[in-house]
Parts: sequence; C-alpha cells; structure tokens
Amino acid sequence: MQKIPLIWNITQACPWNCSFCCINAHYLPLSSESLETELEEIKRKKVELPLEDKLKIVDNLDIEAFDIDISGGEPLLFRENVEIIKKLSSSVKKPLERVQYRKHLILNKEQDFM
Ligand code: SF4
Repeated sequence: MQKIPLIWNITQACPWNCSFCCINAHYLPLSSESLETELEEIKRKKVELPLEDKLKIVDNLDIEAFDIDISGGEPLLFRENVEIIKKLSSSVKKPLERVQYRKHLILNKEQDFM
C-alpha cells in the first residue's frame, strides 16, 4: 500500500524571517536574549500545542499509513519536539530515513537525539 504524504507543521515559531513564508510564521530570532521567555509565552497563549497534545496526535495516528514530514516553522526551536520525532521513529521500528536540516545552529546542540 502506498503511503499518504503527510506534512505536520508542528510549530509556527521560526528563527528565520523569509519574505516568502506561506505559514505566517511567528518570528523568534535565535539571537534574542529572551528567546526562552518568548517560547514560553507562545505556549501560554496556546499558539503552540502542548507536548501532551502532540503526543496524543502521534498515539492516534496510523503511522504505517503515512509518510510523515515534520516541518514548521522550525521544529527544533521547541526542544520538546525531539520527543515527537523519537516517538514517531520508534513507532515505525526503524531509524529515521533522513533528516533534512537547514538550521545547524540548533542541530549542533541536539545532534545526539537520534
Ligand atoms: S517557516 Fe519556513 S518559510 Fe517560513 S520563515 Fe520559517 S524557514 Fe522561512
């Protein structure tokens, strides 16, 4: 059975500010001294789903039916999203097939997550 492509824009927060952005991302520069506070504010305003809700989505997803692409915004801006990636990876009982990552500034801090 052919898998259905599924792009999960897991967050709207993004440290980039592309003029062509099609998701109206919430711009949060990595250089901001108040980055962590701003991320918490986004969660408080419920712009970002809580981790528990994201995990429920994974629990209710027919993993085998979809070819899942985690996108955003910037998925790793919220470090807890690593838990989602790990859970998805373990659910299909194989390592991630590929990681396309354009923001090495974040990945360098999380490179052992896979
Ligand atoms: S979500 Fe993508 S297109 Fe939009 S600002 Fe971020 S990197 Fe750019």
